[in-house]
This record gives sequence, structure tokens and C-alpha cells, in this order.
Amino acid sequence: MFLNAQPNKAGSLNIGLMGGTFDPIHMGHLVTAEEARQQFDLNYVVFVPAGTPPHKDEKTVSLPEHRYLMTSLAVMSNPSFFVSRLEIDAVGPTYTIDTVRHFAFGDDSGPELFFITGADAILEIFTWKDYEKLLHLATFIAVSRPGYSLDHFYETLDRTAPNMRHKVHLLEIPALAVSSTFIRERVTLSKTIKYLTPEPVEQYIRKHGLYRTGI
Ligand code: ATP
Ligand code: MG
Repeated sequence: MFLNAQPNKAGSLNIGLMGGTFDPIHMGHLVTAEEARQQFDLNYVVFVPAGTPPHKDEKTVSLPEHRYLMTSLAVMSNPSFFVSRLEIDAVGPTYTIDTVRHFAFGDDSGPELFFITGADAILEIFTWKDYEKLLHLATFIAVSRPGYSLDHFYETLDRTAPNMRHKVHLLEIPALAVSSTFIRERVTLSKTIKYLTPEPVEQYIRKHGLYRTGI
């Protein structure tokens, strides 16, 4: 997939996958991915912007191409970060299991995969019917936002996916309450978004007039 893919110090190839709408990508996503990269000795983190997210109203989400380009601009300066067009180019809805399978190269000799996502989203994933297959293919890094209840997390995890704690690691990211919603609202209100997202993303938003009408 990546021409210069090299095993890490431990001799394995660890790839982090970070899915999201990325409308727009922001410092919360980037700090999280970088922290996961370091803590889990990941060779790469691949951001996978969603095509047409089934849970969000199609009309209220920016065009996939805008979200893909903003994500690309945001990862430009980090040699370990990449963006995948997999879901952007897919026709129809895409499922996490298919994305993870794609990066697993279809067999056990492929890279070790780490799926990075919000702790809430992980609990939701464990209610899906394919979640066991997903847990077989990847280790989960559950990112908790400030103020998130870890007691609640483990309680729900043990109820929905018993004996799976070893496949789920919690990663606390302190002081990052920024969300894409927060950024979109600020743009609509003509408030500054400087330092909440990388400067090229900020410029892209301005150039294309994104979020001005309060989508
Ligand atoms: P929105 O406000 O539109 O829901 P968002 O900021 O939650 O956007 P998403 O694209 O939905 O961004 O999120 C992609 C992934 O990043 C999700 O797993 C989400 O939980 C995680 N994430 C979002 N914001 C943060 C943050 N500030 N810190 C850590 N993880 C985050
Ligand atoms: Mg979200």
C-alpha cells in the first residue's frame, strides 16, 4: 500500500486506522492520532474519511472531495500520516468491517491493525452483528474525551462484549474538547478557528466558503 512500508523497531508493521466524517478535520483528531502513533508504536496512521455517512444527513455533510482534501492538507507535515480514498470512492454505504478487512490484506500475515475511534463510537460498534469479526481483525484504541466516564465504559463493554477488554485500549486525550461541530458553528458565526485546525485547512474552508450558511 505504501511504497516505503518498513517494520518498526519491534519488527512488526503496525497500522492505525482512524475513521471519521472529518467535516472538518481538527486538532483533536490530529493530537489523538499522534498520541496513538507513539503509544502503540504505529508505523502509520491512515485517516479514512467516510463517503456518505449513513448516520448523518447527506445534505448537511460537506462533499466527500472537500473532506478528503482538507484531511490531506492536515496530514501533509506528518511523515507517518496518510489519507485513504477507500470510503470516499466507494459506491453506496461502507462498513467498518470492510474497511478493516481491506487494510488487513485478507490474511493473518498482514499488518497488525489498530482502529482508533471515540470511546462512545466503540461501544456502539460492539452492538453490531459483525463486531466479533472486527475484534479478530483489529485492536481497538478507544479515545476518551474530557469528562468521559470510564466506569460507564467498562460496564457497557463487559455487558456487550464480555472478555474483550484485552482487545480494547483506552487512550485519554486531555484538554481536547474541540469537535467538528464546534468549528462549523464558529465559521457560521464568523468567529475565528485559528489554532483549532491546521492553517491550510482554515484557508481551504475560507477559499471554498464552507460552513458559512450554518449547515
Ligand atoms: P462532529 O462534531 O461533526 O460529530 P467530530 O469532531 O466528532 O465531528 P468525527 O469526524 O465525527 O469528528 O470524528 C472522527 C473520530 O474522531 C471519532 O472516532 C471521534 O470520536 C474522534 N474525535 C472527534 N473529536 C475528537 C477529540 N477532540 N479528541 C479525540 N477524538 C476525537
Ligand atoms: Mg462526532
